Amino acid sequence: MGLVVQKYGGSSVADAEGIKRVAKRIVEAKKNGHQVVVVVSAMGDTTDELIDLAEQVSPMPSGREFDMLLTAGERISMALLAMAIKNLGHSAQSFTGSQAGVITDSVHNKARIIDVTPGRIRTALDEGNIAIVAGFQGVSQDKKDITTLGRGGSDTTAVALAAALDAEVCEIYTDVDGVFTADPRVVKKARKIDWIAFEDMLELAASGSKVLLHRCVEYARRYNIPIHVRSSFSGLQGTWVSNEPIQQGDRKVEQAIISGVAHDTSEAKITVVGVPDKPGEAASIFRAIADAEINIDMVVQNVSAASTGLTDISFTLPKTEGRKAIDALEKAKTAIGFDSLRYDDQIGKISLVGAGMKTNPGVTAGFFEALSDAGVNIELISTSEIRISVVTRADDVPEAVRAVHTAFGLDSDSDEAVVYGGTGR
Ligand code: ADP
Ligand code: ASP
Ligand code: MG
Repeated sequence: MGLVVQKYGGSSVADAEGIKRVAKRIVEAKKNGHQVVVVVSAMGDTTDELIDLAEQVSPMPSGREFDMLLTAGERISMALLAMAIKNLGHSAQSFTGSQAGVITDSVHNKARIIDVTPGRIRTALDEGNIAIVAGFQGVSQDKKDITTLGRGGSDTTAVALAAALDAEVCEIYTDVDGVFTADPRVVKKARKIDWIAFEDMLELAASGSKVLLHRCVEYARRYNIPIHVRSSFSGLQGTWVSNEPIQQGDRKVEQAIISGVAHDTSEAKITVVGVPDKPGEAASIFRAIADAEINIDMVVQNVSAASTGLTDISFTLPKTEGRKAIDALEKAKTAIGFDSLRYDDQIGKISLVGAGMKTNPGVTAGFFEALSDAGVNIELISTSEIRISVVTRADDVPEAVRAVHTAFGLDSDSDEAVVYGGTGR
């Protein structure tokens, strides 16, 4: 029996009952002979509540203090979980990210893990303990400041520890039974996926399927750590995310042509209006954005009107970076020479993901037909080898997701997908 890393999300430890339920599950794994490392998130919507609180105190809190505040959420749950486990007669020790050796760069609010030195975790395990680690946090290598890894970052902590400790598997416990063909909160007829390749899961995660964080899947692929996504509320098998298809009976699970439909309403669109249509303009716009350390997603440039020689450039970015991006562009306005900026945060993105797209020319047409039949207007389009995404009005997203899901034959004809907990926030 080897070492397993189990990660429990906020909805699994939302209250005292949840913590006690999860503690039992962890003890079961230990009794089965595993060495167990647990990564835990903040209880319920604690992180959102801490963010709301910070915003009431200061509109632009300093990154350092903001991270210090947010890591408090995970400290609460790790200590309570260790207490609950001890109450069941087993020994457990809790560790902050810093104590667990999660070393990051110094970009507050979205730090990257650059090294993991889990010496204290190893010692705790060797002494027979269950080790509980606070997710989503680390310590910066240069300044030794406390950092956070960005929303949903506990997934990344779990995979990073699994890699550093050479775990057999990284189990991600959440409030649904696995990765589905669409978000079960939006599509009741979504189907659970038994196995999905890293490549497809990366695209789903990047397109907004927050059941797994993109960075966590990237990390797992790099170190070849199989992930098992499952519910902490049921005993069912979940979804395996790995390179190699899993075995079912005497045959391997086949790669689906279409893996699923993802949606994302966390982005906004900025349009730079009246940009001179000459070389270097796009470069200076996106240099200003990059210098502000903002990641962008889609980019579209309109054909310039021949009479004016001016064009518009639109791009999407996380809503949370909207203000910073507008400020950065306003500052560079004279140098770049555009007319004005438009900001729109009422947009949504819908993506269809599947390895079959590479070889199946009907997919794109079918996707647009489904959207048009549902009366959904498309504002931006982008594609990769195995994904096609569109931007629409945010209000249209649920209907559009359901329409595409049905059009590609993904609807299940059996049970409705179960959502066990969480508020979907
Ligand atoms: P946790 O608190 O456990 O980290 P999250 O809220 O981050 O949980 O992620 C689980 C949620 O992800 C589900 O409740 C579901 O609403 C959402 N989700 C989005 N897309 C999918 C998908 N394709 N399959 C499963 N869940 C999805
Ligand atoms: N508590 C953090 C968040 O809500 C990290 C996580 O849950 O993964 O984003
Ligand atoms: Mg999550």
